[in-house]
Amino acid sequence: MSECIFCRIVNGEAAASIVAETAGALAFMDINQPVPGHVLVIPKAHIQDIYALDAATGAEVFALTIEVAKAVKAALQADGLNLLQANERAGQQDVFHFHMHVMARYTGDRDRVHLGWHPHLPARAELDALAERIGSLMDAPDRADEMGRAGAERIGAEFSADRAAEEMLAVLAEVANSASG
Ligand code: AMP
Ligand code: ZN
Repeated sequence: MSECIFCRIVNGEAAASIVAETAGALAFMDINQPVPGHVLVIPKAHIQDIYALDAATGAEVFALTIEVAKAVKAALQADGLNLLQANERAGQQDVFHFHMHVMARYTGDRDRVHLGWHPHLPARAELDALAERIGSLMDAPDRADEMGRAGAERIGAEFSADRAAEEMLAVLAEVANSASG
């Protein structure tokens, strides 16, 4: 028997309240309903996270997610809706089988559902440096050059040392300057 709870649901070995399915994707109710209308959409294949997801499977999962979102909205007369998706422990992933959360939202439900992050509006140069760094690795995420890897490690080290995001971005700007200079 699989150790993965979502694989067990796919295989019919664990209970689930199924909403819909396609050849390669399954939608079922999350056991946790902070507000009514929290559905998970998964690939039937065991795919750990976004990094392991191929485009075709991702497209099938997302197509089902769109249909589920419209059905949740209609069925529950939701006032709004969120899509959420978590990767790795730091990204607050708890079940390591890729899943989209479809979460109905209702006016006045913010005591039950908390989404948010602290505002930080960096200078354009810092935004440009981030865009340049991320964009340069779009086609080759595994081939970060030595300069890039060193920069990423420094950014990671600074941040995991529990520094504020402002400081992380300052390091990024410094790395971008030293790379271009
Ligand atoms: P995440 O934290 O993004 O990995 O989300 C995992 C989700 O899976 C949580 O919302 C859990 O409530 C949900 N979950 C865990 N076990 C089950 C289960 N057996 N059936 C349905 N949902 C589950
Ligand atoms: Zn699985």
